[in-house]
Amino acid sequence: MIQEIYEQMGISRQVWDLGQRTENKLKDRFQEFDRTAEYNQLKVIHAMQENRVSEACFNYVSGYGYNDLGRDTLEAVYASAFHTEAALVRPQITCGTHALALALAANLRPGDELLSPVGKPYDTLEEVIGIRPSNGSLAEYGISYRQVDLLEDGYFDYPAIEAALNEKTKLVTIQRSKGYQTRPSYSVKKIGELIAFIKERRPDVICMVDNCYGEFVETIEPSDVGADMIVGSLIKNPGGGLAPIGGYIAGRADLIENCAYRLTSPGLGKEVGASLGVMQSFYQGFFLAPTVVCGALKGAVFAANIYEQLGFSVVPNGSESRHDIIQAVTLGSPEGVIAFCQGIQAAAPVDSYVNPEPWAMPGYDSDVIMAAGAFVQGSSIELSADGPIKPPYAVYFQGGLTWYHAKLGILKSLQNMIDAGVIDIKDIEKLL
Ligand SMILES: *Cc1c(COP(=O)(O)O)cnc(C)c1O
Repeated sequence: MIQEIYEQMGISRQVWDLGQRTENKLKDRFQEFDRTAEYNQLKVIHAMQENRVSEACFNYVSGYGYNDLGRDTLEAVYASAFHTEAALVRPQITCGTHALALALAANLRPGDELLSPVGKPYDTLEEVIGIRPSNGSLAEYGISYRQVDLLEDGYFDYPAIEAALNEKTKLVTIQRSKGYQTRPSYSVKKIGELIAFIKERRPDVICMVDNCYGEFVETIEPSDVGADMIVGSLIKNPGGGLAPIGGYIAGRADLIENCAYRLTSPGLGKEVGASLGVMQSFYQGFFLAPTVVCGALKGAVFAANIYEQLGFSVVPNGSESRHDIIQAVTLGSPEGVIAFCQGIQAAAPVDSYVNPEPWAMPGYDSDVIMAAGAFVQGSSIELSADGPIKPPYAVYFQGGLTWYHAKLGILKSLQNMIDAGVIDIKDIEKLL
């Protein structure tokens, strides 16, 4: 019966068979993800109980938002779940870049230096920092930036980091996920080692972690291993697919207070900023996030294993441990990238009938094809893929609100590549 409905959805018997075989081989991995989700689910419920979340927290609050119970309680829930003193979780933080820019601008002053010991940060931060000139960048405010590149193996150059720390260094930014780079994503443990190294030399330096795509992938977060602030987007992992907007910063109370003063205004801080009716989706999304992340991880590992068997290079590979939800697959041709992304789109619950095409995008130096059939525009905890049309012709894909949807998307991407003549069905049959 299950195979029949896959067939109705355009998945051939061979592709389905390969999917079943692959899934069967992944039982232990899946069980490991389920265990992590179980732990994190209880962590979130515990945080909600501890802070006495009630129905009144979902009330609509407008205007200044003084005494917005839902907002204040949610911030306490985030702080409890992430084991920090405080948190700022707001719909007024528009996205991950905004949350990161806010955390930086709020805690750096003219003359201070920002250090990235993990190489180049995420693309959108280049303009925030002023690596690429932009109006309002940190550079314009007299905040300097230093970067220590990674070693060959993608890990930390400790002697160079030690040398880069100087009397101006005020804040160190560490990106957990590789984003769209080829280096590894870092385990929380590795991040903890890096923070310990920095704190041993300079206990006063603020250690911030860009936690985008990392939340709930492990049972601990960077805030459990010494990070002073962790920062992320609610249309990624912690929003659980339900948050329609938002970002968070969790960490030391004094740093979070600076963030609040910067977000609203000196003197006003956390006291203003009405939650405008989004609280139920913020709470419910956070509640669902551990299982949503679990489904996305299953999808990522499934895809890695499917495409690895077919001889494509995948990062992370099919057996590596996971530290974020992103999967890269190098398809080696523009036709491959296009067919893959069109397959992901065709499997979507929303906009499945549209056919994405490569196009010029601001900030990219080649055409890019993007597949997203999402309930929330641009949400990348939902199943989504994008690929720049340039060598090595890799697609980056992530998300899936449920494992079943992620599975359909991946099988559909493969089917589409067969139908487009990029992959020979005989190559699938050889594996069966
Ligand atoms: C997505 C992401 C960002 C930026 O978040 P947006 O919501 O797209 O602005 C920053 N850092 C990393 C590692 C990300 O994955």
